[in-house]
Amino acid sequence: MAHCVVSGAEAILDKEFPVLDKGFVRLVDYLGGDERVVQSARVSYGAGTRSRREDAGLIDYLLRNRHTSPFEQVILTFHVKLPIFVARQWIRHRTARVNELSGRYSIMKDDFYLPAAEDLALQSNDNKQGRREDTLEPEQADKLRCALEQAQQVAYHDYSALVDQGIARELARINLPLSLYTEWYWQIDLHNLFHFLELRLDSHAQREIRFYAQVLLDITRKVAPLCCESFEQYTLGAVHFSRDEFAELKRRLAGDAGNPDNDGARDTERDVEGGTSGGLPLAGKALERFETKLITGRQL
Ligand SMILES: Cc1cc2nc3c(=O)[nH]c(=O)nc-3n(C[C@H](O)[C@H](O)[C@H](O)COP(=O)(O)OP(=O)(O)OC[C@H]3O[C@@H](n4cnc5c(N)ncnc54)[C@H](O)[C@@H]3O)c2cc1C
Repeated sequence: MAHCVVSGAEAILDKEFPVLDKGFVRLVDYLGGDERVVQSARVSYGAGTRSRREDAGLIDYLLRNRHTSPFEQVILTFHVKLPIFVARQWIRHRTARVNELSGRYSIMKDDFYLPAAEDLALQSNDNKQGRREDTLEPEQADKLRCALEQAQQVAYHDYSALVDQGIARELARINLPLSLYTEWYWQIDLHNLFHFLELRLDSHAQREIRFYAQVLLDITRKVAPLCCESFEQYTLGAVHFSRDEFAELKRRLAGDAGNPDNDGARDTERDVEGGTSGGLPLAGKALERFETKLITGRQL
């Protein structure tokens, strides 16, 4: 079958979706959609599915069973404007094709990311890579925003002065901060986009890149709604359990919480017979992590 036209995607082509204070994501182009995933899967499974319900079932099956290659048949191209510190995290995803604005060639714009007061927080006590949930007091937030803005203005003023003196742009730019915005075209297939989204929508990812990931997902839903529904069901909303956690879960379902000596525990051990051992009772931090996972539904 020829080119897939997805009306939902056509409607948002070229539209800028704002992110942070000055950034955006724009869908430049797409190739394929749910239909393409189904068509390409049929090549391996033979003709069959027809209705939307059957298509959804097939897509669910592919995603659940990590039959990933049909998802690689769908390609999306985005134009993104993002602060350099977000770009540095984003670029680690090697399975995309990128073309970025050149600070050697172009004059960088006076566009810096200034976090909103509600995004400012102290260093987290329990997560070395993150910030605390509670935000700064308004006065402290104002002071910090002023300090950040002032430093950005000084940096840009110095940059402009060097450019005006005729210093090469590739040198003039080197003291510009990570809060400066850059832009790129980013092209990726749906399988690898889902991998990116799984990592960058996670609560462990930096808040700013999570905002971008959410907009990418919203846009991608327009291109491939069934695939996204499946991704949200089986990947994003799923929680994985380790071997011992799963054994603990089985024990609890059998009504044997906290008592590894009873029948439930022995059943679990029998289930994993022949494996590398399993069903060991959880204790200490592992038990704590398991309990938190059950309560919050977060992958820890
Ligand atoms: C919360 C968080 C914190 C992080 N903290 C740090 C940090 O402190 N320091 C740091 O350096 N990085 C950090 N990273 C980056 C992280 O280690 C990965 O580099 C990044 O998430 C890209 O993941 P990836 O390699 O799976 O993705 P991609 O590059 O998109 O690759 C997708 C998959 O393709 C395969 N693949 C791609 N290229 C190759 C290759 N050349 N060889 C073999 N297989 C390949 C792998 O299976 C890979 O999983 C962090 C990431 C997250 C989400």
